[in-house]
Amino acid sequence: MSPSRADTFSLPLGERPLIRARFLTRPNRFLVSCEAEGLGRVKAFLPNPGRLLELLLPDVTLYLLPNAPDAPPRATDYTVLAVECDKRPVLLHTHWCNVMARRLLDARAVPGLETMQVVRQEVQVGRSRFDFLLQDDNRRCYVEVKSCTLFGNGTAMFPDAVTARGRRHLLELADIAQEQNTACRVLFIVQTDTARCFMPDYHTDPDFAHAMLSVRHHVPIVPLPITWDSRLRFRVSGPPLPTPWEHVAKENCDCGAYLLVLRLDTPHVVKTGSLGTRRYLPGWYVYVGSAMKGLNARMARHRRKRKRKHWHIDYLRDVAEYVDCLPIRSTTRMECDIARDMAANSNGITGFGCSDCACAAHLFHHTNNPLHDREFHNLLQRYRMAEYPG
Ligand SMILES: [Zn+2]
Repeated sequence: MSPSRADTFSLPLGERPLIRARFLTRPNRFLVSCEAEGLGRVKAFLPNPGRLLELLLPDVTLYLLPNAPDAPPRATDYTVLAVECDKRPVLLHTHWCNVMARRLLDARAVPGLETMQVVRQEVQVGRSRFDFLLQDDNRRCYVEVKSCTLFGNGTAMFPDAVTARGRRHLLELADIAQEQNTACRVLFIVQTDTARCFMPDYHTDPDFAHAMLSVRHHVPIVPLPITWDSRLRFRVSGPPLPTPWEHVAKENCDCGAYLLVLRLDTPHVVKTGSLGTRRYLPGWYVYVGSAMKGLNARMARHRRKRKRKHWHIDYLRDVAEYVDCLPIRSTTRMECDIARDMAANSNGITGFGCSDCACAAHLFHHTNNPLHDREFHNLLQRYRMAEYPG
């Protein structure tokens, strides 16, 4: 390990104290409500547009930073810097992620870029702005930085929500690399030391994954793992993670399983096709389905209410509110394995959605929103981030 890898870096937080807080709710994308140590219930600005569903679970610990005394007045007095995951902080503040990258680049701690120094930050090229322009005696290099906060099961993934902007950045960097003969890199700051590989999240954003796959020879990626300590100091925890490109190319497909989440506010009696009339309790329902051809069209079909009813789920969908549909793209049929795992943590609706298999149920009732449940996310990650061969 080079000396720079062993360096510990800190963020320039000044004299401001870090405040720990218990996460309660996220009323909107940029705001959280939490119970702060010594302060009671406060609202804090969350500078991160990602979904963060796996991280912002009830009662997790947040790290808040009070606004600087000379800062202009804001709607909130605090800003969320980080959230704890597996007892380690994960930085959520997207602006500070570029501060981290600058620290790493200045310390020559990014493999492949050790000879280069930052000459400009926030560089406008055409329609886009890239984070850094680096230079050494022989060449120039544009570096775009992304913070990777989605990980589990030994795998790190990006993005956690569809990012058309991220995809455009990749394609434009590929054009620059070819037309201007300038090197380009995407630096993923992977905020865990538990991942053994990095992949574009083709489940959530297949277009981004496809772009990354197609430009990878012109725009090499550097998924650099880092770890934080409880005082929000960080260090590089290992070499860049490998990406199993063949696995991504094969599995980034329009087929696989999905978890459809629906909600009922009140009890409903519903004629459910061949199941006959059934009474459904209020709460959340998770339906495990699959489409080994046309997965995207199938998921879009579940969003629509107007359609000819074909499956049991169509009858329930008719009266329920659509909450979310989470794909698990795979060329392997996994629907019944997932249904069996779901049955371990929720109440199966006997006979629902399983006319063609030996399962007891493919529909599960939850009294609380499963999207806020750690077990549900663990299950999703087990299937989305399955160990890849080799
Ligand atoms: Zn089944």
